[in-house]
Amino acid sequence: MSELWPRLIVNAKTIEENARRVVQKCAAAGISVSGVTKGMCAHEDIVRAMVAGGCSELADSRVGNLATLKALNTGLPLLLLRIPMLSELHLVVSRADCSLVSTAETVVGLEKACAASGLSHEVIVMVDLGDLREGVWMDDTGRIAEILKCSPRVRCRGVGVNFGCYGGTLPTGEKLLQLIRIGKELEREVGYPLSVFSGGSTSSLLLLERGEIPPGINSLRIGEGILLGEDVTSMRSIPWLLRRTMWLEAELVEVRKKPSVPVGPVGADAFGGRPVFEDRGTRMRAIAAVGRQDVRIEGLVPELEGVIILGASSDHLILDVEDAAVPLAQGDKLKFFPDYGAMLALATSPYVPFEVV
Ligand SMILES: *Cc1c(COP(=O)(O)O)cnc(C)c1O
Repeated sequence: MSELWPRLIVNAKTIEENARRVVQKCAAAGISVSGVTKGMCAHEDIVRAMVAGGCSELADSRVGNLATLKALNTGLPLLLLRIPMLSELHLVVSRADCSLVSTAETVVGLEKACAASGLSHEVIVMVDLGDLREGVWMDDTGRIAEILKCSPRVRCRGVGVNFGCYGGTLPTGEKLLQLIRIGKELEREVGYPLSVFSGGSTSSLLLLERGEIPPGINSLRIGEGILLGEDVTSMRSIPWLLRRTMWLEAELVEVRKKPSVPVGPVGADAFGGRPVFEDRGTRMRAIAAVGRQDVRIEGLVPELEGVIILGASSDHLILDVEDAAVPLAQGDKLKFFPDYGAMLALATSPYVPFEVV
């Protein structure tokens, strides 16, 4: 690896261990785990860690990442997470074994794409139980069932639900029972049994811990928990998983004393915001060479005790290092731990190389 900063460093062993712990805990409840790779752009080492940890399927939201997953030949089935665009259905059937769907139109299109390519495909019908992202509303499965019945190349694998994605709704045992009921109804409508009842993502692990996932739910799709050991929806770290699995390393390009309030008339900052400053007197400050083009700075936690993130422009991260646990100098490298949003941005920034340790 060339010596370039900023860089994202990932400890793949900790991610493998997290996958193993999630898979074991889920297995004890009769639940299989789809490892969700989108947070790390389906990077090979992360994918291999999820496979080694025992995930029984790999899932991603982008057909581009599915091509990466397919090329890795892990032997695991592939699931497309984002309900597909009509314009990409030919890619969906050639790259994914199964996709999440919420409209009859998509099923019609998938059937056509399968017929054109001689393939078959499976779908999981998403049900919206209140989070207000994708899904047929509550129990409105009639129309999609009608279309499924006359789509011989598209088989319904099951039903699924999202929590905490848009509306921030939390999973409950009640809602999962509702999903099972709706799945049973869909089984009657399509005339064959469904094999998957997919009860959500990382946020459902809290229910699992409490033993509140009803029998019948047999699949979860887990990204954040495995990748970071955290659950942003429930605003908690998951106590039985490893954290600090990855960190951003950035180099300091300036360290000097400066006042804590701007001097002169103040307009808007580079992003149109009106910054607010607390006068803390003259403080030792540092600039790290990383910015909003690379990362969501609100999602970073500095490793070094006493370092405070003040703000950032597109390429400069402004730090108060007056109380830093060790004296800092230009050229020093600082570590920052990302949350899910910061990880997403880092993993997709072409300016941030990626290193696995
Ligand atoms: C991203 C995603 C997941 C994984 O969510 P995490 O919170 O990272 O576990 C699961 N299902 C769908 C549909 C997703 O888009």
